[in-house]
Amino acid sequence: MNFCSSKNRPQALQNLQSETFDLLVIGGGITGAGIALDAASRGMKVALVEKKDFASGTSSKSTKLVHGGLRYLKQLEIGLVRETGTERAIVHQLAPHLVVPEKMLLPLVEGGTYGKLGTSFGLAVYDFLANVHSTDRRKMLSKEETLEKEPQLRKDIVIGGGYYAEYRTDDARLTIEIIKAAADHGAISLNYVEVKDFVYDESGKIKGAVCRDHVGEQMLTVNAKYIVSAAGPWVDQLRKTDDSLEGKHLFLSKGVHIVVPHERFPVHQSVYFDVPDGRMIFAIPRHRVTYIGTTDTPYKEELDQVLTRQEDVDYLLKSVNSMFPSLNLTTQDVESSWAGLRPLIHEEGKSASQMSRKDEIFESETGLVSIAGGKLTGYRKMAERVVNLIAKRHNDNTLAACHTNKIALAGGTLKSAKDVASYVAETEKKVVAKGLSEYYAIYLTSNYGTQTDTILDNMANFRGAAEQQLIRAELAHTLEHEMVQTPLDFFNRRTGRVYFNLPSIKDLSDLVLDDFQNYFNWTDEQVQAAKTELETEVYEVSNFEYSDAALV
Ligand code: FAD
Repeated sequence: MNFCSSKNRPQALQNLQSETFDLLVIGGGITGAGIALDAASRGMKVALVEKKDFASGTSSKSTKLVHGGLRYLKQLEIGLVRETGTERAIVHQLAPHLVVPEKMLLPLVEGGTYGKLGTSFGLAVYDFLANVHSTDRRKMLSKEETLEKEPQLRKDIVIGGGYYAEYRTDDARLTIEIIKAAADHGAISLNYVEVKDFVYDESGKIKGAVCRDHVGEQMLTVNAKYIVSAAGPWVDQLRKTDDSLEGKHLFLSKGVHIVVPHERFPVHQSVYFDVPDGRMIFAIPRHRVTYIGTTDTPYKEELDQVLTRQEDVDYLLKSVNSMFPSLNLTTQDVESSWAGLRPLIHEEGKSASQMSRKDEIFESETGLVSIAGGKLTGYRKMAERVVNLIAKRHNDNTLAACHTNKIALAGGTLKSAKDVASYVAETEKKVVAKGLSEYYAIYLTSNYGTQTDTILDNMANFRGAAEQQLIRAELAHTLEHEMVQTPLDFFNRRTGRVYFNLPSIKDLSDLVLDDFQNYFNWTDEQVQAAKTELETEVYEVSNFEYSDAALV
């Protein structure tokens, strides 16, 4: 049965309650998704529960780079850079439409974070550790060459630049494709199922989780031999529920990104630049917009409602305007934003920016395994480490070795950036023939890969203008294959429109709400609740207030 179809959710819930799993994964972010795929593909019977939507936590709020992290090199985290650097190429191969090569410009400035010699050496080491192909290796640029690439950079302080290879992704889409691949290997993953408590055997060992299904508002127990918590910023909450929160704990750091129309900040490639307080931030072009981030501030407020504040916006705007003075970006230019939490492992005496991004595994006496920290980029290796640990406990040598480096995502028909470029060119002709703008070719391909063809073919089954037909065909696809439960899941985590095309939502939301009502047989009250949820999110990502702390 296709458990990725939203229609089959009741059956999936039934199976969740009636079977005993080898492994229950808590959390449907990139870490949990990666573990579910790794374990299921090695032969384990796997369940995964996510309390909201897949990727609704940190895994839709990152800078969306699959990168080695140049700054970790400066912090001498060689192992981390080597691992994430190598992983970039692997994840690109698994989903070349979703993990795309992106050149990064590093302008060097007088008295900045990186000097000329150090950068030349550092980027060469970075390329070496990541085994970057010779044609793609770093280039050092003169002042003139740097300004030619980005004429709006501050001319008085730029002294040169570095130009090197990175990859850009969509974190939420990557997560959902991994969840789908795990389902192909037999894992049952459910969103909107929250772990509330644990069940233990007579010897005190964990053997199940008491969960709440937020769709049907019912309680259920999931039984499993092993339980892994990949709950990101919520890991310590679950360790507390397990009565095992001792020793190392999480430090949460808030990171905000803002989105402006590309014509207001027309960067030609990604730029990683110095800002006046000594930090560095990214400006990343993505089709019709450019996004800018990030902040890095300690966070102690409500974990379930992390908002972009006016002071975050002010900081990012000030930072951009200082390096690109002719832009004069203001809050009015900010079309959308996102705010997420880094679940870092606390290190005494270090600031948020200085704390390591390394992942760590905690094992409690009850048997609960928790994993936190790490990077989006390292999800596959983190998963391998966790599943190796479980396999060791399981003492079952019938389990296969990790082979997620060979499991292509999203159909796997596209094998390289070249294939993607040809597919986009073909799709351009198709979308134009259907009355859509060329933009939709890159939008659809980078979201869905070759699943785009099915979506485009399905447009004919819907009435209305081309954009209306398209949104309904996209919705039909995500309802049938991506476990969408609410219009917000669809507009945010499946299509990225909340962040990257917010203006398009206004005209299309009523149509989408109608289709939801028909698909799930919703009452008018349910439609109203879904509409309010969507409108609240649209408001919050684009309207900002100062926090109480900033007003003091
Ligand atoms: P999450 O994505 O938060 O997933 C945990 C999930 O657990 C959540 O969805 C939550 O709802 C669920 N959950 C919690 N409690 C329960 C419960 N009781 N029951 C069921 N489910 C529960 N990394 C990179 O590689 N590249 C980048 O460019 C990058 N940029 C970043 C920028 C920022 C601002 C931030 C904050 C992070 C960035 N990272 C980046 C790091 C990366 O985003 C994170 O390491 C990664 O997303 C963490 O994923 P996760 O699955 O561990 O956590």
